[in-house]
Amino acid sequence: MGEFELIRQYFAAAQCAQAGEGVVLGIGDDCALLAVPAAEQLAISTDTLVAGVHFPAVSDPYLLGQRSLAVAASDLAAMGATPVAFTLALTLPEVRADWLEAYARGLNQMARQCGLSLVGGDTTRGPLSLTMTVFGRVPGGQALTRRGAQVGDLLCVGGELGNAAGALPLVLGERDAPAEIAAPLLAQYWSPAPQLALGQALRGKATAALDISDGLLADCGHIASASQVALRLELERLPLGKALQQLLGLDGARTAALTGGDDYVIAFTLPPAALDALLKAGWPVRVVGRVEAGSGVSLHDRHGNDITPGTRGYQHFRETP
Ligand code: ADP
Ligand code: MG
Repeated sequence: MGEFELIRQYFAAAQCAQAGEGVVLGIGDDCALLAVPAAEQLAISTDTLVAGVHFPAVSDPYLLGQRSLAVAASDLAAMGATPVAFTLALTLPEVRADWLEAYARGLNQMARQCGLSLVGGDTTRGPLSLTMTVFGRVPGGQALTRRGAQVGDLLCVGGELGNAAGALPLVLGERDAPAEIAAPLLAQYWSPAPQLALGQALRGKATAALDISDGLLADCGHIASASQVALRLELERLPLGKALQQLLGLDGARTAALTGGDDYVIAFTLPPAALDALLKAGWPVRVVGRVEAGSGVSLHDRHGNDITPGTRGYQHFRETP
């Protein structure tokens, strides 16, 4: 199968590549054309996933299709952007119809879930690698950046933390778990649901935001430095799922939540006065700390003790009794 036939059969023909809102011209020309309404801005982000680095070389292609797009769409969520379109740069070692068919199905499923149209890409031969570029739109000046956190704001997250990190040893086949524990964790890893609606609901409310891809501690560090504030995290408040705690125990689950990657949950800062309305509207907002004057990220136990892990070799976040 030639390159053009492959593109046509698996990607141009996919439902997510048919006409979408804001797409003037999709796959097939030298460029796609997007219409951005006046007074809105284009939000753009690229993510690359490399086999053997970001996912096991032998992975279910359907799940990989979902995950590769979800990871990229999560950046749109974190900016408060409305999804419009994406491109796919696909590098494949060989053309395997069953692999491509399943990959395209997973991609299509996530694209429709997110409201993203496939408008172009590139197809080359080489070690398996997937690059997604996503495009969203956001009213001028309303994008949620990492910069605006204010002293006195609450530090919040949009859901449970650590599940994807808990799933990793299962994904890699290093560990087994009963289905009722493994299933919810693996689902979080393979098909994270980008918090697009939450991101849009936070426009004009959150003062800073990002999606957690490298663990809460590290990612909060980005908000702290961009906003020139300190973030204080409360160990006790970390939202941990039941399956994660069953798999890793409380200490292990906390470690996963604080340092594990791949959650793709939004972390954001919020003036305290804005919290009630969000909770009443049913948004999954969990307060995990607050913004203070200073710099960096600190972690505190329920007695107020500073238990911020050192930079080296710190594995667990035990509370002092
Ligand atoms: P060009 O040589 O002009 O860069 P290509 O031959 O690479 O164009 O691609 C032809 C068309 O197919 C373009 O519209 C491109 O965006 C699209 N395309 C290529 N690969 C993919 C893919 N994996 N998924 C979606 N569209 C693709
Ligand atoms: Mg061209």
